[in-house]
Amino acid sequence: MTGTGRSLRRLAGVPVSELRLVGDKRAQALAALEIETVLDLLTHYPRRYVDRTRQAALADLAPGEEAVVLATVRAAHGRRTRQGRSLVELDVDDGTGALRITFFNQAWRTKQLPVGTEALFFGKLDLYRGRRRMTNPIVDLVGNRTGRLVPIYPTSERAGIAGWEFGSWVEEALERAGTFADPLPGEVRDRLGLVDRTTAFRAIHAPGNFHERDQARRRLAFDELLRLQLQVVRRRIEIESQARAIRHLVDPPPDRALVDAFLAGLPFAPTPAQRRAVDRIKADLAGPLPMHRLLQGDVGSGKTVVALAALLTAVQGGHQGALMAPTEVLAEQHFLSVRRLLADLEVPDPGRLGGRRPLGLALLTNRVGAADRGRLRRELDAGEIDLVVGTHALLTEDVQFKSLGVVVIDEQHRFGVEQRAALHAKGRQSGGSDPDLLVMTATPIPRTAAMVVFGDLDVTELDEMPPGRTPVTTSWARHPRQEAAVWQRVRDEVAAGHRAYVVCPLVEGSERVQAASATAEEQRLAAGPLEGLRVGLLHGQMKSADKEQVMDGFRAGALEVLVATTVIEVGVDVPEASVMVVEDAQRFGIAQLHQLRGRVGRSPLPSWCYLLSTADAPDAVRRLEALEQSTDGFELAEVDLELRGEGTILGARQKGRSDLKLASLRRGDRPLVEAARKVAEELLAGDPALEAASDLADEVELFVGEEEAAFLAKS
Ligand code: ADP
Ligand code: MG
Repeated sequence: MTGTGRSLRRLAGVPVSELRLVGDKRAQALAALEIETVLDLLTHYPRRYVDRTRQAALADLAPGEEAVVLATVRAAHGRRTRQGRSLVELDVDDGTGALRITFFNQAWRTKQLPVGTEALFFGKLDLYRGRRRMTNPIVDLVGNRTGRLVPIYPTSERAGIAGWEFGSWVEEALERAGTFADPLPGEVRDRLGLVDRTTAFRAIHAPGNFHERDQARRRLAFDELLRLQLQVVRRRIEIESQARAIRHLVDPPPDRALVDAFLAGLPFAPTPAQRRAVDRIKADLAGPLPMHRLLQGDVGSGKTVVALAALLTAVQGGHQGALMAPTEVLAEQHFLSVRRLLADLEVPDPGRLGGRRPLGLALLTNRVGAADRGRLRRELDAGEIDLVVGTHALLTEDVQFKSLGVVVIDEQHRFGVEQRAALHAKGRQSGGSDPDLLVMTATPIPRTAAMVVFGDLDVTELDEMPPGRTPVTTSWARHPRQEAAVWQRVRDEVAAGHRAYVVCPLVEGSERVQAASATAEEQRLAAGPLEGLRVGLLHGQMKSADKEQVMDGFRAGALEVLVATTVIEVGVDVPEASVMVVEDAQRFGIAQLHQLRGRVGRSPLPSWCYLLSTADAPDAVRRLEALEQSTDGFELAEVDLELRGEGTILGARQKGRSDLKLASLRRGDRPLVEAARKVAEELLAGDPALEAASDLADEVELFVGEEEAAFLAKS
């Protein structure tokens, strides 16, 4: 099925210096770009393509325009500036007009571009002392290359390698490689309409037109994604093959139907999104494999209800549930709201009069005293506690469950190997099976990205808010003169009996520096724009007791304005708060601003978020505008990805050959990611070692490598 031809593994074994056109010097220059083998060379893809038919005549260009011009060098000289920088100046013309081209720190350009040379210059035209100029343009020596689209290779210019040279090496490499082996079964290729590998490699480097380029990119990007998905799916199969799942009781007799009783007893109707999530989870819990699911939902989307339905499913079948939060404060908050929501539930207990007892619920954190801890442990071990709330540490602590059935982890989407091992151990020592796992996060990552990064996690989204919320009106105050109106809004809201947050600028340095700056800001506001209001201060350096006192004061209304650092980012819940002001908003990331904003709009009151910032850097502008335009965490996660690139999501994976060089985690490649996932599942079904596709297995190993495997194991 793979046919014959050159494998990528073989190309990875050929050093670039084997190419006739690459001498020692050039090999060194390439090494600086981390291109050492022919495979490296062929997967160093063009960054962009200049369309020669779009070439402009110099006479038609206006300053400020970006363009490609084909021009001949008429004069060239190099010198040093007074600061010691090398400066090369060229005078070029194209028969319609003339242009001065300036290169800084590229002394080699005089050799590259002697008088008489014809080259393509790609850059932005500006005016300098009345003269038309391009500074540090991309240059392509046309040479005798043909083709309408000229590939421009990343960073090769800086390494002193001309585009045409690069192109000629690639051409030689392609010629000598001949036909590429294609490890993808022909049937899959046909079904997905993918071009073969030989065509793809040729067309990505020397496309005849943009359509060919797109086809090539699609094929090669698919290959990248398939390799990753094969790895991810294979690992999942391995885990599942060793799993011992609990078949949970999802359709209990009426006297045990805790989930139904819980949902029916809620003071509100679950949203359709919540219902869908609960149904998915029920199916997981009834199934033959332990659940491993990520629940993504914006702040306030009602994840707790879904979590409790999962936990109660365990309890109605006679098992226990554990809900874990990242901090003790959050665990305590969870405990209080869970206790309220589950107040009237009972479980069967043959040992008791009437055969029933109240549901056993407990909070277990480090703040619980030693005596109480001892009692709680005994009760957990005896199964008298059905549901325990604690921090993530619950899993690693020396706590013994009678039969741990479902674990919910809040506010975490990385569930590491150690934690997975701890979860297994906990399950095996208490009841003997693997608990089902639900991980929840309020900072969604885009679905396409989730599929790649958390390939072994199923993902469910709560993409719908409970009714009755008014979205927070967000405005970016770009000019200092708009600030007065912002503070006026704060005063008006406070006068109406509501409350306000002011988030202090993020300052570099220690917690202490941050605290000092917050203190100063509080004093400035209390004496200035917010004079006469009852203003409190909250930062990370305060003692717990002081923090609590401030929070209590704010909750009760004794304090009207809370000046705070990002300590309020998670968990603070004061429904009367209707305004938030974020100072120096450009210093925060999209996700963080969205989280902060989630502190207001927690009631039917109209609410506002003001972003103060005079920033005009393009990235900052896009971030702040995105927050103005959308209150949807999923939408914002997409924007964040567009702006920051995949690196932030992939993290450590960025290094090495395992890069996704062409494939993107952005929205556009979602169909390709899904296709790769499906193909990986098909190929691995019944053949987890990929024996029938050994070429593909070999390629996965070649690209994904051990470092990658280790990273994936941690996600
Ligand atoms: P999060 O997803 O941020 O954890 P919570 O579970 O804390 O959200 O829910 C936020 C608030 O919305 C809570 O006060 C909760 O009681 C309420 N809530 C949850 N689901 C609904 C619903 N379907 N209808 C109305 N209110 C709901
Ligand atoms: Mg929550």
